[in-house]
Amino acid sequence: MLRVRNLEVVYDDVMLVLRGVSVTVPPGGVVALLGANGAGKTTLLRAITGLLDVHDGEVTKGAVTLDDEPVHHLRPAALVRRGICQVMEARRIFAELTVEENLRIGGHTSPSRIKPRLDDVFDLFPVLEQRRRRTAGYLSGGEQQMLAIGRALMAEPRYLLLDEPSLGLAPRLVEQVREIIMAINKRGTGILLVEQNATMALSIAGHGYVLETGRVVLDKPAAQLLADDDIREFYLGLG
Ligand code: ATP
Repeated sequence: MLRVRNLEVVYDDVMLVLRGVSVTVPPGGVVALLGANGAGKTTLLRAITGLLDVHDGEVTKGAVTLDDEPVHHLRPAALVRRGICQVMEARRIFAELTVEENLRIGGHTSPSRIKPRLDDVFDLFPVLEQRRRRTAGYLSGGEQQMLAIGRALMAEPRYLLLDEPSLGLAPRLVEQVREIIMAINKRGTGILLVEQNATMALSIAGHGYVLETGRVVLDKPAAQLLADDDIREFYLGLG
């Protein structure tokens, strides 16, 4: 179980951005984290993946625990070894390396595991196999997004964190991303999905949280969030 408990985060020693946030991702579950720009979603992901300090942020209260062990003090590489991986933004793939080289770099795992992981990623993304020797910089935007997800999967995560995977994608590609997330989850990986696209996120999530200025204001099964007209209108902007 991945748990964030009563987490408080401060940037630059003074700016309080998370004010006691609690979020739980059960093993193999899908959890949606929603909220307007600036609510603190990315900050929460940074706290889970050990990336706060590079942004001058700090956990001042609460904890992130994995199977009841505190992990928020660990470095990103140590978290990856424990099974917590974040999908990097697509523009952070290595443009001058091939698709396969990018994937191999993602495999923080023993050499004997690389081949089965590659096969698994190619199974999920046949287009990456077709382009395995192509320079990543020449892929389309959608393909680069798939490569970014594939790279995170090379480390065999137990929990995968995604920060707005549908951002800027055409509706057809959003649907594709949705199907990919469901396929990854079906293999047993727990997912924490940060999205502006509430409809997409809640259609695959079991549970949803809505953040507002650093606090959880809603914490409910996804189906309940979607079914409530007031919530749809006031919190999700779905009218
Ligand atoms: P978005 O969808 O715009 O990314 P978000 O919900 O992910 O929004 P955060 O990016 O976590 O929100 O930002 C929460 C608040 O923290 C914002 O007010 C933002 O300006 C501030 N913030 C984010 N990063 C830093 C930083 N490195 N230093 C100072 N303040 C920051």
